[in-house]
Amino acid sequence: MNKIEARLIQSLNEILSPDRVLTSDEDLVPYSFDGTAALKQRPGAVVFPLTAEEVSECVLLARRNNVPVVTRGSGTGLSGGSVPLDGCLVICLVKMDKLIEVDEKNLTLRAQSGVITKEIDDACAKVGLFYPPDPGSMKISTIGGNVAENSGGLRGLKYGVTRDYVMGFEVVLPDGTLTFLGNKCVKDVAGYSMKDIFIGSEGTLGIITEVILKVLPRPKARKTMLALYDSMEDAAKTISAIIAAKIIPCTLEFLDRVTVQCVEDYAKIGLPTDVEALVLMETDGHPVVVEEEAAQMMALAKANGARDVRAAADEAEGARLAAARRNAFSALARVRPTTILEDVTVPRSELAAMVAFIDAVAKKHKLQIGTFGHLGDGNLHPTFLTNERDHEEMHRIELALEEIVEETIRVGGTVTGEHGVGLAKKSFLKRQLGEGSYELMRSIKKALDPQGLLNPGKIFD
Ligand SMILES: Cc1cc2nc3c(=O)[nH]c(=O)nc-3n(C[C@H](O)[C@H](O)[C@H](O)COP(=O)(O)OP(=O)(O)OC[C@H]3O[C@@H](n4cnc5c(N)ncnc54)[C@H](O)[C@@H]3O)c2cc1C
Repeated sequence: MNKIEARLIQSLNEILSPDRVLTSDEDLVPYSFDGTAALKQRPGAVVFPLTAEEVSECVLLARRNNVPVVTRGSGTGLSGGSVPLDGCLVICLVKMDKLIEVDEKNLTLRAQSGVITKEIDDACAKVGLFYPPDPGSMKISTIGGNVAENSGGLRGLKYGVTRDYVMGFEVVLPDGTLTFLGNKCVKDVAGYSMKDIFIGSEGTLGIITEVILKVLPRPKARKTMLALYDSMEDAAKTISAIIAAKIIPCTLEFLDRVTVQCVEDYAKIGLPTDVEALVLMETDGHPVVVEEEAAQMMALAKANGARDVRAAADEAEGARLAAARRNAFSALARVRPTTILEDVTVPRSELAAMVAFIDAVAKKHKLQIGTFGHLGDGNLHPTFLTNERDHEEMHRIELALEEIVEETIRVGGTVTGEHGVGLAKKSFLKRQLGEGSYELMRSIKKALDPQGLLNPGKIFD
């Protein structure tokens, strides 16, 4: 494929206004990387369209000149999905940030792809509605990026992930065609479910420009609790006991010892730093049910060995307790210059063993790993604290990650629960999927994008 040339930049300036076309070296630096450590590559130009038609024209121009296109939202991705190819065209959607409609009659919301995730839920809250997916990055990530990564969040256990809320979207295909997949209908079985192929396709099949999302009535009450443990096994046993008691909390998150220590250093919440695990529990719904479930969950935590269980008196205190989990990444990121936030998911029955395995791998390779994640759905984030300039330590991280991923696959898990494959996980994908499903995915990419225009080299070569 080709790199962008001056002639093509001139054409981009004609399609968009010149202030929405970046080409100078200084301007391109911030678009050379995303949230994934140690992956960088300078693009040839970055453009900021305002409409789907402009996106389509840019794609057509790139197609005619055989220049690869990388779509970008806020660049918070943790698998290198929006890292550019050398000299490529980056189409950044952050200026397509109009919230078009909150439809209270149909319980849907329509927005351009560049709208920030939190603004979606804030707009819902104003009219008593609720958009549940809440990735840790929700204050900065775009809804388009969430759909492209099929992002999950802290409320995934009860409410599911982004896919469960996408009813339809407008998408620019690799040949520049503008099409709409899906609609506002709750039931729709007309033809193939094409939208499902695009959800989680990480910018490799099309550029999503507008979305219709399903929203829910806002739960009337919520209760937040923290349980502290001297053993990870007891924390895991509590989770099993809660599920066995037929309670589906909206949040069951955990932090390991290393992460609790970092969070306390950072946020001064008043957590003891000698605990082996901290579990954040939340239940929401009708006030009576919430009170009953909260009491049951606290009793189950105590019965399963929690050293201490605290319940928030009100929403404000709940937010303060939840901050322990929400601050985990920032707290860990302060410790060393480079933070590598990993993402593996195992069947829930394997959780305690997997956390112990990660701990042992950290000791074996003399690495600092803080692990936190979504205990309720088996999604773990082993977080490597390192310095990318220390090549020897980075090599030990590669070995450790290899072992963690191998173990994940061995116990029937997945190499990514929510961050996607991108560049970071592509060497592991075939091992998890096996030849058949891996080739099926590649054949879908070839059928929809025969020229390999959109995000080439991501997910697979
Ligand atoms: C501190 C932190 C916490 C995080 N917590 C979570 C979490 O809890 N759960 C979770 O799932 N993720 C989490 N993430 C990862 C990341 O925020 C999500 O993957 C998010 O959805 C990316 O959105 P973005 O707008 O930044 O997309 P980008 O990073 O810009 O892009 C991500 C991918 O989507 C593609 N893309 C972006 N927009 C479009 C579009 N409109 N059409 C087609 N393709 C597109 C890009 O090409 C790229 O492959 C976290 C990241 C950070 C830094």
